Amino acid sequence: MTAITNRLKDELTARRDDLIALTQALIRIPTLNPPGANYREICEFLGQRLEKRGFDIQMIRATGAPGDSDRYPRWNVMARREGRHTGPCVHFNSHTDVVEVGQGWTVDPFGGEVKEGRIYGRGACDMKGGLAAAILAAEVFVDLCPDFHGAVEISGTADEESGGYGGVAYLAEQGFFAPDRVQHVIIPEPLNKDRICLGHRGAWWAEIETRGEIAHGAMPFLGDCAVRHMGAVIDAFESRLYPAMAQRRTDMPVVPEGARQSTMNINSIHGGEPEPPDDYTGLPAYCVPDSCRVVIDRRYLAEETHAGVAGEVRALLDDLKATRARFDYRLQEINHVAPSMTDREAPVVTTVAQAIREVMGKAPEYVASPGTYDQKHIDRIGRLKNCIAYGPGVLELAHKPDEWVGIDDMVQSAQVMALSLATLLLTD
Ligand SMILES: [Zn+2]
Repeated sequence: MTAITNRLKDELTARRDDLIALTQALIRIPTLNPPGANYREICEFLGQRLEKRGFDIQMIRATGAPGDSDRYPRWNVMARREGRHTGPCVHFNSHTDVVEVGQGWTVDPFGGEVKEGRIYGRGACDMKGGLAAAILAAEVFVDLCPDFHGAVEISGTADEESGGYGGVAYLAEQGFFAPDRVQHVIIPEPLNKDRICLGHRGAWWAEIETRGEIAHGAMPFLGDCAVRHMGAVIDAFESRLYPAMAQRRTDMPVVPEGARQSTMNINSIHGGEPEPPDDYTGLPAYCVPDSCRVVIDRRYLAEETHAGVAGEVRALLDDLKATRARFDYRLQEINHVAPSMTDREAPVVTTVAQAIREVMGKAPEYVASPGTYDQKHIDRIGRLKNCIAYGPGVLELAHKPDEWVGIDDMVQSAQVMALSLATLLLTD
């Protein structure tokens, strides 16, 4: 195995310029989501490249998925190359979408500029650098080891940044991640080149509305103020829910450390009159608000349950209903994602861990993600447990201005991926 290990590593070092050019080309296709632009362009680009290397290409539109329209179709690409003998399938899944640019850039966000060993651009780190590294790893592997067993797959999928329903969730529903079709999945999200991400916390999003009664603002006692009722809800969160959540610690290796407990964000609050248009120059009308809404984003631990998390919020609201005059509420779940954790002894984990030791000369760190990513769909819909996130890039740079990915990091993580393919698909 040592001879092939060194050849794979050397060949990836030699193809560094190709890796840079591929990453730049991907960054230059502005796949902004929302709205979900240029998915077809990036899928065709990937398909054309991999077809030349002997991969079978399927273009799959997630017709009817949330966000899919004729103007912004949700295209996905699936590339598969069969080996010469039967064996397992190793799949690399990358999302092709990037989040909005935002303020504060000093370089062109879609320029792919190279400076001091880094490639800059929106999506450089999250996760076009990881996608490019996986492609180079697969290409080098099939070139040097054409006699391999099983199959290598690469997918480029839509909409991860908005939940993955037009991407991996759709493909999983179509059976692409069924355990009899795919046996090992690596998602090259930017978790740092020496870390293996085993899974993520759960998430529960809900909208709470308090109701009141509209009246003239000069006689508020004739109405009922929904914003004051919401004040009581937030007060109950502060005095009861947040302290209770702060007590709950998880055994999951979540990074950063602050996310190793239950957390909740209040995303938004809207009460009373809608915001006037920017060109409105009048004063507000005098009304007692009859509705106030908040959206909450509750991240939960493997040790908690969906029912427990939702029930805890509902119990607080029911207490207010029992004790506070005229209090009434509506609670509506917006979305739910169960926590996902792959076993440390799963074959994809031990394989990638060994490859990290060989390339970087040190043991990997095992982590879990504070937020969710496409592993949730592979686990829940695909029923495949042998899945990790592993890829180049510094997690903290994702979604930030002047996002970049380090070229040496990409080369090294591509080496880790190629060595992992050798372990899983070659028999001596
Ligand atoms: Zn990502």
